Amino acid sequence: MKLARIQTVSGPCVVAISSDGKRFCQTFRAGSGEADMESLIGELVASGSELTTPPAEADWKSLDEVKLLAPLSPRRNVFCVGKNYHEHAKEFQQSGFDSSSKDGEHAPPYPVIFTKAPTSIIANGEPVDAHRQITSQLDYEAELAVVIGKGGKAIPKSEAWKHIFGYTIVNDITARDLQQQHRQWFLGKSIDTFCPMGPWLVTADAIDATNATIQCRVNGELRQNANTADLIFDIPTLIETLSAAMELHPGDVIATGTPAGVGLGFKPPKFLQPGDVIEVSIDGIGTLTNVVV
Ligand code: MG
Repeated sequence: MKLARIQTVSGPCVVAISSDGKRFCQTFRAGSGEADMESLIGELVASGSELTTPPAEADWKSLDEVKLLAPLSPRRNVFCVGKNYHEHAKEFQQSGFDSSSKDGEHAPPYPVIFTKAPTSIIANGEPVDAHRQITSQLDYEAELAVVIGKGGKAIPKSEAWKHIFGYTIVNDITARDLQQQHRQWFLGKSIDTFCPMGPWLVTADAIDATNATIQCRVNGELRQNANTADLIFDIPTLIETLSAAMELHPGDVIATGTPAGVGLGFKPPKFLQPGDVIEVSIDGIGTLTNVVV
């Protein structure tokens, strides 16, 4: 099932999305009308109830009539994983932009965890501000993002799948020059508008997250084309690693890393320019589209 947030006259509202991604239904469950996804997930976890897809005769309306918001508005940072596909770890290490790796090291021995500020999140269709006054090396990163359902601390790998509510798409936009200059990645990845997310989330039953095609196109050109089966550190390992250190909460987001084919991997690099259209697609979720301005 697909769930999104839309803007209504009375504020943000969680809605169900039709399987073709073209219509929404506001009254998709008893007591519906939550303003934020985190509250809905928290309520479902607390009550143990499950969502069911609204029937065909429900009150479906065209998505063209409303403004889509990012599916989540997390209260804390988006957790992210760096260098989590072998081919991307190699292209990053060889690009000269990676100030975090040791000589000759293609894959990190432990997950590389960083975060993006929640203020960097934008919705499908919203513009990415190129911030040309501070960066000239803007890059895209297509990523599968995990949305936590039932929270917990010290979650073992064997239990991790039970803590996942669903999945969405994140484009981990990065200012490569800032990422390199400042050595620590936070600044170059947390710039306002640098975290496109959406267009919606899908519940965990909707996709096989261990075998999903992930692609990124820039102006229609296929740049990234991989499968989540190739993650270096799989999703249970990421949940175990994070939850060992801090309690995870309903609605927390973990962006699992990007595959090869980012702009810096090309010779010469293909950095984003104003006017570029970035489309990130994941099997079973949909396509997240944003334009650089
Ligand atoms: Mg990334």
